Order: sequence, then C-alpha cells, then structure tokens
Amino acid sequence: MKLDATDLRYITSDEFRVLTAVEMGSKNHEVVPTILIAQISGLRNGGVNKLIGSLAKRNLVSRVQNAKYDGYRLTYGGYDYLAMRAMSKRDTMNSVGNQIGVGKESDIYIVADAQGKEMVLKLHRLGRMSFRTIKQNRDYLGKRKSASWMYMSRLAAQKEWAFMKVLYEHDFPVPKPIDQSRHCILMEFIDSYPLRQIDDVPAPGKLYSSLMDLIVRFARAGLIHGDFNEFNILIRRTTGDPVVIDFPQMVSTSHENAEWYFNRDVECIRTFFRRRFRYESAIYPKFKRVLVDEEGETGFRLDVEVAASGFSRKDMKDLEEYMEVVKTDSADDEDSEEEEEEEEEEKVENGEAEVAVTRVFNAKKVENTLSGPLDPLGEDEGPD
Ligand code: ADP
Ligand code: MG
Repeated sequence: MKLDATDLRYITSDEFRVLTAVEMGSKNHEVVPTILIAQISGLRNGGVNKLIGSLAKRNLVSRVQNAKYDGYRLTYGGYDYLAMRAMSKRDTMNSVGNQIGVGKESDIYIVADAQGKEMVLKLHRLGRMSFRTIKQNRDYLGKRKSASWMYMSRLAAQKEWAFMKVLYEHDFPVPKPIDQSRHCILMEFIDSYPLRQIDDVPAPGKLYSSLMDLIVRFARAGLIHGDFNEFNILIRRTTGDPVVIDFPQMVSTSHENAEWYFNRDVECIRTFFRRRFRYESAIYPKFKRVLVDEEGETGFRLDVEVAASGFSRKDMKDLEEYMEVVKTDSADDEDSEEEEEEEEEEKVENGEAEVAVTRVFNAKKVENTLSGPLDPLGEDEGPD
C-alpha cells in the first residue's frame, strides 16, 4: 500500500475536522453514521456531506451502505494520514521517501525530518490478511466493536514502542525510538543489511556468540524477543554489529510458555548458522540456567518496567490472543516453510523483496498547511 504524502498538503482544516470525527466515531461504531460525523465535527450537515465526499475520493474514508444506515469507515490511508500528520505537527517527521519493506503485518518507509535526516517509519497493518480469521473467531474478542484492524494495529505499535524505548534506555542494540502515533512508529534508520541477506561473515563464531549473548541479556532483563531470526537482526554496514528490531511479539520470562519461546529463539539462530555459514556450536544458552544466574545478578526487570509504562497487561493479552489466532490460521494457509523460502529467494533476485540499503530518497514533503484547531483525541500532543 502506497503512502500518499501529497494528501497532507491539500487537505483543508474542515476536511481534517471531518476525518478526525470519523476516527473518533470508529471507537464505538464499525460504520460511523453520517449524522454522527456531522455531530462530532460540529459542522452543518450539508457541508459535511461535501467534505466527506472529497475525503472518500482520496480514499481516506470509504462509504459503507448498511442495511440500517449509511455511513463511513476510516481507511488505512486515512489512518496513515492522521498518524503522519500528528508526527509532522510535532516536527519529528517532515517528508516521506521510499518504501523499503512490506511485511505481512507492516509497511516500512524511509522518511526524513526537516533537516533531511533519514529515519524509518513502520506502519503496523494487523488485520490486513486476516479478515476471514477474525470472522471465524468472532467470539474470541467478545462483543467489543473496536476489535478491528485499527485497534489491533495501534496496540501492536504501542507495544513495540514501549519495548523499544525500555530496551534503548538500557543500552540494548535497538534503533532509537523517535515518535509514535496510532499504528505508526518512527525510529532511527540503521545503515545495515538484514542478516538474511548476508552470505558470508568474517567470523561466524563471533557473531553467533554475540547473538546468543543478546538472547541471554534479554532474558536476564526479564524478556524474550519471540521472533529472533535472520529477518529481525540487522548487521551494521560499517561495524558488522547486530541490531535487533521488531518487538510486537516480545514476552516476559514469566510467561507460561517462556521456555518454549526462549528455545525457539535460540534454535532459530542455531539453524540459520548451520545452514548459511555451516557453523555449529555445542554451546548455546539454556533457559533454566539463564534464569538461575539472574537471581543474584540483575536488579532490573524490563518486563515490569514495560507494564508500568502504560502498556497494560490487558493490552498485552488482547494482542497476544489476536496474534495466536492469526498465526494458527496462516500456518494452515501457507505452503511449507521450504517453498516459502524459495519464493523469498526468487523475490530477492527479482529485486522485489525488502531492500534495506536502497536509499534513493524521493522525498515528498509533509507540509502542514492545515491548521485545524480540533484535536479531540489529544493525539497531537505527544506519543500515545
Ligand atoms: P515486520 O514486522 O514486517 O517484520 P520489521 O520491523 O521486521 O517489520 O521490519 C521489516 C524490514 O524493514 C527489516 O527486515 C529491515 O530490512 C527493515 N527495517 C526495519 N526497521 C529498520 C531500521 N530501523 N533501519 C533499517 N531498516 C529497517
Ligand atoms: Mg520482522
């Protein structure tokens, strides 16, 4: 999905007011009735129709004709717009460049601030692939209307933000977190290659140890990455040092399946080193040993810090349940892992896959000619 920064330039403050009204209405309505949009935006009914029409033309909202009433839904485009606008108002982000990654559940863009400094914008897109899943599992989120792509994508971004911040503050090798709004995270750009794209390293044993050390360091701080693999480890171009990304699935070492997650992370690295570098070591961390050592040694528990930072256990649980359901479902859908891998390789050859180091920067300015005084969600004040 393309990000269209030009919209940021041409939207009027009344249009912004209406768009925000649709977002607010979405909290309680899957389809926001036109009348409600008019009410929230405080604009007269006739005027509102025209404004909604022009937002719909640009795919920021989409019209839904319901059995009971006519209304609108915020689109991903509209949600992207609101998040980018919030960041650009806070001066953390100023222009949008190339897309460098398309994941199943996220889009990654190079963006820049007013000084031209490049950063990475990650837009979470949960629910994109899993409408059917959600339908099949209608019960699992109960009656909550907001159990939607918007809600889940925002939760994923908030969780990733909370973890990235805590990790960065404790000197873990992660990108510096810069800003967060809605389903988006803005972070430092790491000049790097994903480990996945690396065929040769001068000292595989050294890299292997430093990755295992990292897993241990995470665990001693109460955390398990949960997706510690060659896609989520970036290797700095200049130094060869690893940087870890992608945190929406992190779990605490007190999680009931902690040991299983821990072993899976360890196993991912072992398997990758065996296959790619023909490197195998008898030494690898064991969960119980790591935890025993922990007792005397560390005074801090980052899982507890994250819980205290505002990303609640309930949020964590909601997201976890969602991810479980989606994972189970897509595992049934997909071809075997091997086939997937081949497909991936082909894509790399065709130049379709993630190209983390392509830095041609066709910036489009995120100009803020809009100045709607309406900020009912308080989202423009600081990271949410
Ligand atoms: P997903 O959840 O879709 O896996 P990731 O956070 O793992 O998203 O990012 C996907 C890809 O985008 C990474 O493999 C990497 O190539 C690139 N990327 C993500 N964050 C950064 C960053 N901070 N600096 C450089 N490249 C990044
Ligand atoms: Mg990833």
